Amino acid sequence: MKLTTNVKAKTGLWKFLPKIISTKTAQCVYPFIFLPEHIYKDLISRTPKPESIAVLLHEKVHLERQKRKGIFLWAILYIISPKFRFNEELLAFKEQIKYLKKLNLTLDLELRAKRLSSWLYLWCVSYEKALTKLKKL
Ligand SMILES: [Zn+2]
Repeated sequence: MKLTTNVKAKTGLWKFLPKIISTKTAQCVYPFIFLPEHIYKDLISRTPKPESIAVLLHEKVHLERQKRKGIFLWAILYIISPKFRFNEELLAFKEQIKYLKKLNLTLDLELRAKRLSSWLYLWCVSYEKALTKLKKL
């Protein structure tokens, strides 16, 4: 598929960050979306995997929310408020899961709950709460 120019692969300096950040997670910093290289390459191929498209949809929710609130305010709230951070992630996961569900696919919710309750998301929520909420989406 064709991607807009604001969507980038995590190359260059990203490689100096912990491997889980450069290879497993995507980030949105309005107006850009940064994707792990393998997901980016899959998306620009002729037959991208639904899982890759779902990641892009997740990041597009962040992009839209950052645009609406203003990236500066959004980023501050995201950093200082665990509640805001968790809520923003739930909104993004909701779109991701909705898309996968239509194709009879699922997301590994235990893994997502594990990540949300870890340093990756600055411990925004407990594992149990994350899993409960993700299951309700
Ligand atoms: Zn997210």
